[in-house]
Amino acid sequence: MNRKSLAILLSILGVVILSALGWYAYSSASQAEAIPATFDGSRAYEDVETQVSFGPRIPETAGHDQVRAWIQAELESAGWQVEVQESEAMGHPVKNIVAKRGDESPQVVIGAHYDSRMYADNDPDPANHTVPVPAANDGGSGVAVLLGLARALPKETVPVWLVFFDAEDNGRIEGWDWILGSREFVKNNPIQPRAVVVVDMIGDADLNIYKEKNSNTAITDEIWKTAEDLGYGEKFIDSSKYSMEDDHTPFLEAGIPAVDLIDFDYPYWHTTQDTPDKVSAESLKAVGDTLLSWVVGQSGQP
Ligand SMILES: [Zn+2]
Repeated sequence: MNRKSLAILLSILGVVILSALGWYAYSSASQAEAIPATFDGSRAYEDVETQVSFGPRIPETAGHDQVRAWIQAELESAGWQVEVQESEAMGHPVKNIVAKRGDESPQVVIGAHYDSRMYADNDPDPANHTVPVPAANDGGSGVAVLLGLARALPKETVPVWLVFFDAEDNGRIEGWDWILGSREFVKNNPIQPRAVVVVDMIGDADLNIYKEKNSNTAITDEIWKTAEDLGYGEKFIDSSKYSMEDDHTPFLEAGIPAVDLIDFDYPYWHTTQDTPDKVSAESLKAVGDTLLSWVVGQSGQP
C-alpha cells in the first residue's frame, strides 16, 4: 500500500468512525426525547396504603398530622419547596399544603384533598354512620396521584403548583361545610393560573371518569384527548354525567378555569368499605400518565 492509498483509507476510516459517533449521539438524544417520564402506578398504590395506615385523616387528629408530615417529606425528597398555609374556617384550623419549584407564579395548579371524612354516613349499616371513612379512594387516591406527579414531572414544564387541600370532606355535618380548604386557598392566593385540575376519587379499580358538568370545557377536552391518545379512552368516558361541588368550585367562582376529575360511580363512597382493595395501581397510573402528559404538553402553548 502506498502513502496515497493509506491516506485515503485513513480518511474513509475517519469518516466512518465520525458518522458512527454522530449517529450514536443522534439516536441516543432522540431516544431520550422519545422516552417520556412515566407515572409509577405501583408506588402510587403503596402511597394509598400508607395513608390508610395512618388511620382517619380528620382535621385536628393524629392521623391528619401524620399524613401532612409525610406528604411534606415526600415532596421535599422529590425536590419541591413546601409551604403549609394555615388559616381558619368555621372555627376549624385549615392547613393547606402547597408545593412549588421556583418563585414563578403557577400557570397550572393540580390539587387534591388530603383530609378524610369524619363519618361513614353513607354506609349500608347505620351502626357505621359515626365511624370515620378509611378514605383509600376518597382522599387517598388524589394525594397518591399528586405525589406521583411530584416525582415524575420534568423540571422544564410550565410553573406548576401541587396543592393538597385540607378540610374538603365534612359537608353535611353540624358545624362544617364542604371544600373549606380550597375556599381558603383561593381567598389567600392571588394567582391567575391558566388551568386548575382537581383530582378526587380517581383510584377506583373500576375506573369510569365522566366529564364533570361545571368544569371548564376546553381544558376538559384537552385532558380527554390526552387520555385517548395514551390508550385510556375506556377510563375517560367521552360524555358528561355529574355536577359536583368540589375543590374546583372556588376557582370557578373566582373566574379561574378549573376542572374536576372524579369518578363518582363508587359504591363505597363515604362508607367503611372505602379501603385500598377497591383501588388499583392501573387506575392511578391512567390518571397520573394523563396528567403528566397534559402538563408537559402545556409548555409549548402561549
Ligand atoms: Zn368525600
